[in-house]
Order: sequence, then C-alpha cells, then structure tokens
Amino acid sequence: MSELIVLGSCGAWPEPGRACAGFVLSHQGVRIVLDLGYGTIGPLLERFPRGAVDAVIVTHRHPDHCVDVSALARVRYYEAAAEPKIPLYCAPGVLDVLRALEPTPDPATVFDVRDLGRPARIGPFSLTPFPLPHHVPNYGVRLTAPGLTVAYTGDCGPTEALRELARDADLFIADATLRDEPADGSPRNVMTATEAATWAAAGGARRLLLAHFWPGSDRAVSAARARAVFGGEVIVAEEGLVVDL
Ligand SMILES: [Zn+2]
Repeated sequence: MSELIVLGSCGAWPEPGRACAGFVLSHQGVRIVLDLGYGTIGPLLERFPRGAVDAVIVTHRHPDHCVDVSALARVRYYEAAAEPKIPLYCAPGVLDVLRALEPTPDPATVFDVRDLGRPARIGPFSLTPFPLPHHVPNYGVRLTAPGLTVAYTGDCGPTEALRELARDADLFIADATLRDEPADGSPRNVMTATEAATWAAAGGARRLLLAHFWPGSDRAVSAARARAVFGGEVIVAEEGLVVDL
C-alpha cells in the first residue's frame, strides 16, 4: 500500500478545524513525514500512535512547517524513550527553532539530526534536495523509489528548478499559497495555483496536489485555475485526505 496522507493544508496559520503544512508518505511500510506545522501533531498521532514514523523531513524553519516537530520530540521523549531515534532531515535554522522552543531535552536526544541539503536514502527512497527561493532557506525534496516518485516544494516562488523537481513525478505536492500574483512586483517566495500547475506541466508530473493555501482562500478558484493549465489530475489538499499512490 502506498499513500500520501494530508495532515494539514494551510499556509501561515491554521483556519479553524484545519492545520498547517504536514504530510505522511507511506510506501512499502516506510513512513516519511514531510513537515509538521501548527496543528499537525494531533492528526499524526491519530494514525501513528507515539509518533512511530521512520523519518521526518522539514523543508524550512518557518513555524507553519516545523513547530510541531517540537511536539513530536515530547511524545518521543516521554512515550518512546527506549526506541531508536527518528532520522530528522533539517533545512538550515530548523534545529535552532526547535532548540529555542525547548532546549532540554535537546532535540538530538530523540532525533538523529541530519542535513537536508545532502542527498540521502530513506528506506526504498532516494532523497534529492532542491534549494528553492523563499524568505529563508527552503529545500524542495524529490523522493524516488522503484516505480514511485513523489516531489514536494515546501514553500517557494516560481523558479526553473521546479521543472526538474517535478520531472515525471507520480505526485507533485506544490505550494499554492496565493490566488493571484502580487501586482507590486515584489520578490516571489510563494506561488499561485496557476504557477504550481505551470511547473507541474513543465516537468511532466502526472498528478498535482495543491497545498499551503493562505487562510480564507477560495480553494475552488485555485483548483479551477490550476486545471486550466495542467492536464493531469489536480487534487486539493484537505485535512485527512488520503491520496492513493
Ligand atoms: Zn515558509
């Protein structure tokens, strides 16, 4: 069974009843968490008691992507101290945020902390990081196993590197924070759904999962705009959604 579970779908802060960025990729019994923003720990524990996952990847240090890693550290420290450390792949600054939230015990007590900037192997997957434009260092990740490729942007503005990140992906999980492009020409650190779909199409991805919606967004409009430029299936992230892979 291979699936992608959506823990949260909001950018910035959670709308009532929702959570911020968080996903679990499950394939051949290996469960990889992609970001754990505000409000994602509850939904994670619902499916994985004691936070029993095989790896955690955090794309960047913004709290809507990493703050509930601190909650997971507590769960592991108090309920699973005898179990092996979970590999935690961090973008720059993530560890500093976790340590500021709770210096004792140090996050390295329960996590095997690794640099997300380097290619790695996680179970059946090869992980390739893609540095992408954002307000702070952000790595998109491409996870490839025999017969399955899942790619995730984290938060990023439109950039040519997305073509390679999305290349032939079975599922491309993309930042779709904005409905409209900013009119003031300010630096682009997040995308519209149209841009996410444009890069999904450029890379030849098969399916697109729109995620990280700004609170209050009309997601139906975002989806319609994405469908106008991407011929594959467009899926709108929703809390609890399970995408079969
Ligand atoms: Zn961000």
